Amino acid sequence: RISDIDKRVRTSCGYCGVGCQMDLWVRNNQVVKVRGAGADVLPNRGRLCVKGRFGYQFLGSRERLRVPLIRKKGTFCEVSWEEALDYTAQKLAEIRDESGPDSLAGLASARCTNEENYIFQKFFRAAVGTNSVDHCARLCHAPTVAGLVRAFGSGAMTNPIEDLAGADCILVTGANVSETHPVTATYIRNARDRGAQIIVIDPRKIDLIQGSTLWLRPKSGTDVAWINGLIHIILEEGLADREFIRTRTDNFVALEEAVKPFTPRVVEDISGISEKQLRQAARLYGAASKSSIVFAMGITQHITGTDNVLSLANLAMVCGQVGRASTGVNPLRGQNNVQGACDMGGLPNVFPGYQHVSDPEIRLKFETAWGRAPLAAKTGLTVMEMMNSASEGRVRGMMIMGENPMLSDPNLNHVEASLKALDFLVVQDIFMTETSALADVILPAAAFAEKEGSFTNTGRRVLRVRKAVEPPGESRADWQILTEISTRMGYPMAYKNSSQIMKEIASLTPIYGGISYERLEDENLQWPCPSQEHPGTPFLHKEQFSRGKGLFHPVDYIPPAERPDKEYPFVLSTGRLLYHYHTATMTRRSEALNDFAPSAYGEINGEDLDRLGAGEGDLLKVTSRRGEIVVPARKSDRVAPGVLFIPFHFHESPVNRLTNDALDPASKIPELKVSACRVELV
Ligand code: SF4
Repeated sequence: RISDIDKRVRTSCGYCGVGCQMDLWVRNNQVVKVRGAGADVLPNRGRLCVKGRFGYQFLGSRERLRVPLIRKKGTFCEVSWEEALDYTAQKLAEIRDESGPDSLAGLASARCTNEENYIFQKFFRAAVGTNSVDHCARLCHAPTVAGLVRAFGSGAMTNPIEDLAGADCILVTGANVSETHPVTATYIRNARDRGAQIIVIDPRKIDLIQGSTLWLRPKSGTDVAWINGLIHIILEEGLADREFIRTRTDNFVALEEAVKPFTPRVVEDISGISEKQLRQAARLYGAASKSSIVFAMGITQHITGTDNVLSLANLAMVCGQVGRASTGVNPLRGQNNVQGACDMGGLPNVFPGYQHVSDPEIRLKFETAWGRAPLAAKTGLTVMEMMNSASEGRVRGMMIMGENPMLSDPNLNHVEASLKALDFLVVQDIFMTETSALADVILPAAAFAEKEGSFTNTGRRVLRVRKAVEPPGESRADWQILTEISTRMGYPMAYKNSSQIMKEIASLTPIYGGISYERLEDENLQWPCPSQEHPGTPFLHKEQFSRGKGLFHPVDYIPPAERPDKEYPFVLSTGRLLYHYHTATMTRRSEALNDFAPSAYGEINGEDLDRLGAGEGDLLKVTSRRGEIVVPARKSDRVAPGVLFIPFHFHESPVNRLTNDALDPASKIPELKVSACRVELV
């Protein structure tokens, strides 16, 4: 009852990139209940999924980190903040001074606020002197940014999430929306209930298929082939928007040539999709007046991730389905603030607002504002390059803020060896994780409900994060920790509060120029929002693309780096579950969620299980060229014969011991979605 609570605090969900607005009910410094914000509040209109509604119990977990820890003679010892901060600053400065700024590298965080990510990259660029800052966007949507920037001039979702409800046709590919972005799935269902055609193109029989018009099941890693095939049919059947192509795009002739070889027969040979289904999908998408494309990591986590995204951009432009409400190319960003962490320059090639580090004028602007010159002009290291450099001794020290690469990154045996090879590792987190267990210093941080700040959702909507409860023990907001270390390293940072940081962000980042806490009290603005008077931008590329004309990219099909063979006959794919978030450090400490999905499993088709002489729950040994794990079997027709799916949340069966770290050359994303493996009964 409202009379029993001390206060209600409006804030943003700390889980996925939908950025649901919610009210936390607080009693005795504890969150006791969560409700969706009002039906008129975007982006979720009062809706919440099970994670947002029940996933807050981790806040009060007894396992929260409460005091700083330093490893002394192999054992973590509790120390004062003074000692931990002095020691961290001294070790980082020592390495920087001995081996140069590029011997240090940092992982920013898609879980932390915009303000914290801004301070993190500022610390590395101004206090340390390197651009080697990256974060887990490298493992999810780096190809989206690389691809959409080339095609359109902006790497973000073109339209807002809630816009999907108004579409006439939605093509969902490589996105298990009901589990990973559940509130987005409700908007897709709203569209379906209005009569929209829903096309799902996915190797896995995901829940969204129920009630959809069409489900196409391609083999993993064949996306360019079937997308080129769709374009081939759309051109052949006169469904292209020739006026849009003529007036708003460049390089169409090259695309036309590139898709010619992708006849339905060729596409069927490569992808397994029949001509009949491919034609149906092409007609539905091409003929609708408002068609929208929704995608996620099933498209991006491939060595051809950037090509896949470029192909989707080609498809949308051929049909003139960009620059209007309820159309567009819409990447669903995974974690709560992965969009914001990118916007804030948690990337090795750009300052906040995607302003390139190699541009002398941009550097001068930041040098002047930050009072530190010269800033490094060379692009820094990406996540996987940091790990490789650490194993070779070129990176000697790392700072990791709220990320857990020891469970989330591919080829974990290599990651483990790399982190162990470092001279110094400092981790800021809210729990002891597989990564912080390898650290020299662990600094206890505040969670989303314990601090002020902002997140930016997958639809470019900037949302306030508000403090509802005090952080446990001595833990502090990440930005406060960072400013203390920076000051000790000779680059003083003094901010009174996160609002002051947002003012600095707005002054240096044109797309956030009109964002302020004052305005965010009344409205959830979408960038670009360049001035105080600007109302924000619901959908991009209205009259012209951000780059001027949209640019077609002819793309050819390249198969995955690893394909099944005699020794490793299965295709291994990984992904997420509705009840867990990323490496499950928070959701597994929220009883209401963990009870639904307490342990790991491997989805395997019944035909394969029979062949192995195994049954439901039997332990399977899964081996790839990089490692082996044991996982209980779950019989399921969600996967085709010859395919194994394992969620990556569970440390007991860490599937990333098996995954392939082969990289997409354009975006440096590893091919997490396709590895070859062998499956045996234990
Ligand atoms: Fe939170 Fe995402 Fe669920 Fe919304 S859909 S409540 S943002 S996890």
